[in-house]
Parts: sequence; structure tokens; C-alpha cells
Amino acid sequence: MLFRRSTAVAPQPEPLAPIVLKIEGREVVVSLRRHPRARRYTLRVRAVERDVVLTLPSRGSVREAHAFAQRYTGWIAARLSRLPERVALEPGALLPLRGVPHRIVHRPDRRGMVWPEVAGGEPVLCVAGELPHVARRVTDFLKREARRDLTEASRRHAAALGVAIGRITLRDTASRWGSCSSNGGLSYSWRLILAPPFVLDYLAAHEVAHRREMNHGPAFWATVDRLFPEREQAERWLRSHGASLHRYGERAGG
Ligand SMILES: [Zn+2]
Repeated sequence: MLFRRSTAVAPQPEPLAPIVLKIEGREVVVSLRRHPRARRYTLRVRAVERDVVLTLPSRGSVREAHAFAQRYTGWIAARLSRLPERVALEPGALLPLRGVPHRIVHRPDRRGMVWPEVAGGEPVLCVAGELPHVARRVTDFLKREARRDLTEASRRHAAALGVAIGRITLRDTASRWGSCSSNGGLSYSWRLILAPPFVLDYLAAHEVAHRREMNHGPAFWATVDRLFPEREQAERWLRSHGASLHRYGERAGG
């Protein structure tokens, strides 16, 4: 998952200095990448990373890239302005937990805990302790819950398939929701705890199925479908809403 194959030989481009554009009084950094198979200059505004990448053809010039970026400042500005707002994990913020929006509520009178409850008919996530620690406490809580749900789901699918799984690692990667190593180690994005449970369950089925088939061939998909028949629905959810899971809190990169 998610279909970024590592079989192709990765290009090793020389590092190019980024371009800094002035757009509406703000500095916007555009990273330059040279790609041997690119035929023209292309611009991308990446939603998850919230950055701008300009790809040059192998024989393209940096000067031409500058002119290209300048020509498209309007387009870049429009794209950047349409990115969803980041949501800081602070009191008052709305945060999805297992797909259900929870309001973060600070409870300084209580000690060192985070717990969900329903207050006034609204699901809330209560955070004890001091205000400067709220964001870290919420993140730690989400990672703990993610580990619990992903461990349970991975073990359940592994038992159904009759395969062994290794260590479960949580990451915060922009490019993939999960991966499975040849020794059975499973790695997942902790942000899956923000998605509806069927999405997390699908990712666990997907990675566990790689214990049988280390590829995305027909036998692999047949195995996934046996473990998790609602695959299409889960993938559709990820395509439509996956990027939005990266809005919450700090992104660790990677
Ligand atoms: Zn896969």
C-alpha cells in the first residue's frame, strides 16, 4: 500500500536549489526535481506536504524552470489557498477519532490522562494536565489507540490466514498507509485511528495478505478480498478523505 512500487530504479538527481517565489506578499518555496523520464516542466502542489514541487525534464534548464514557476504563480496561489486548514491539537479543536468528530476539551483539574466521553450530547476528548502539554498528550493517546486497534486487527487477519506476523511499527508517512517487510514486520500510519474503523481494518487485512503474496498480483487481491470483502469501499474512502487525515497536529515527515 499505497501502490508506490519500489521496483523501478530510483533516479539519483543532483540537488537543485529551490526557487523562492513572492506570492501575495508571502514567500513560497518551490523545490526543483530533475526527472530523467519527464518530457516537460510540471508543477505540483502536494496536499499532504503542503509544498510545491517543480519537475524538470532531464535536459531542462534551471533558468527555464524559474520562468515556468513565475508564469504559474497565479495557479500556485490558487492551489495553496484551497488546501485544507491545518488543525492544531488544542482545546476547542474538532478531531476525528475512529471516524467520529470529537471536540478537544481541557480538564486541568484532572491528572495526566486523556479520555473520550460524551458531554452535552457531543463526543469530546478530555485532556488533563497543563495546557502546554495538551497537543503532545493527544498525539500520544492517538498513537496508543492506533497501536491497540492495529495490533488487534493484524492478529485477527493473521489468524484467519494462518500466517505469522512480526513487530508492528507506527509511522507518520505521507506516501503510504502501511507496509509489510519480508520478515513479517508490519508498519502503519498512526493516523488510521482517525479514519472510520473499516478503513483501519482494511489496511491491516492488506498488509497481512502480503505475508502470502509480496506483490499486488491477482492472487494477492483474492487473498485481501477473502479477509476483507469491502475493499473497494475502503479504498474509495482513502482516495477521497485520506489526505485530510494529515491535517491534524504536527506532521513528523518521512
Ligand atoms: Zn500493498
